Amino acid sequence: MSTAKLTINLDALVTNWRNLDALTNCETAAVVKANGYGLDAGRVGQALAKAGARNFFVAIAEEGVALRRALGPGPGISVFAGHMEGDAKLLRDFQLTPMLNSLDQMLRHFESLPGHAFGVQLDSGMNRLGMEAAEWAAVRDIALGQGPVLVMSHLACADEPSHPMNAQQLQTFSELTDGLDVPRSLSATGGLLLGRNYHFDLCRPGIGLYGGQPFGDALPVAQLDLPVIQIRDLDVGETVGYGNAWSAQRPSRIATVAAGYADGLHRALGNGGISVFAGDTPCPVAGRVSMDLITVDITDLPDSPSHLTILNEQQTVDMLADAGGTIGYEILTSLGSRYARSYTG
Ligand SMILES: *Cc1c(COP(=O)(O)O)cnc(C)c1O
Repeated sequence: MSTAKLTINLDALVTNWRNLDALTNCETAAVVKANGYGLDAGRVGQALAKAGARNFFVAIAEEGVALRRALGPGPGISVFAGHMEGDAKLLRDFQLTPMLNSLDQMLRHFESLPGHAFGVQLDSGMNRLGMEAAEWAAVRDIALGQGPVLVMSHLACADEPSHPMNAQQLQTFSELTDGLDVPRSLSATGGLLLGRNYHFDLCRPGIGLYGGQPFGDALPVAQLDLPVIQIRDLDVGETVGYGNAWSAQRPSRIATVAAGYADGLHRALGNGGISVFAGDTPCPVAGRVSMDLITVDITDLPDSPSHLTILNEQQTVDMLADAGGTIGYEILTSLGSRYARSYTG
């Protein structure tokens, strides 16, 4: 079979959630937007709900619908995009909690779904989503009168612990919310790791659950095995792949494996940028990554492998990200739809 195999370790995922939870005295929710960072929001959500997670966050209402179908009634599902036009039916039928981002959203929500649970997203300096101080001051009493279940904000630089923006946003968020009788949330993975001041009543980690930085102690969750389609021997001077980008400096063996940039293995990973693994032995990528195929220098292997592994304990999503000039989040959420996915644990 020429399908690459993506194995998702739900035990590692749950351990990451528990280990993050153990760093706080507050509730630890789980962010499962973008289909659970590419690993399947339903499976991820079910595993974490079983482990005790009571609240989940998604980006848009439609993601909340899919998650509700997987989780059933009970767990809270909050929507970062808030209450967009046309969302009322989904929010109501699937018991989704919008994080209202503006006066417009607030009016829409109170008018179309009176009494329906909502939260408020405040902008503490990132200038991306949420109400700014002046808008919040204007609507605050009305909002509080309707009983929000959460007030939240988001940190722009939490993956850099010494960045002055962290303390600045913490102060702004405190000024906007001190004294309110409403649960508060400021931190994702990065903020959770900044310490107690940043925890408030609920933390919302995403990437750390899935094995990514900035949670340095995260267990890897995804393993990706690529079947070898063909192996060939090259003489000195023969070339490999598009643009003749690699040429044999010695008699060489090249394995061609079944995955490429259409599967989220970015083209920037080509030409020796990374290795793929035969067991513990790294074998460098030879030449360019093409759409469906990667060519690998296996000259130093004693045997002919049936598959090579590109994501494992030795080579994490962050290492692929560094080699590709991106971040672990993008590697995970780019993992393709062609993989045969299986779940352990
Ligand atoms: C994506 C996101 C999170 C989770 O962030 P991680 O860095 O993956 O932990 C939390 N809150 C908001 C508003 C987000 O957009």
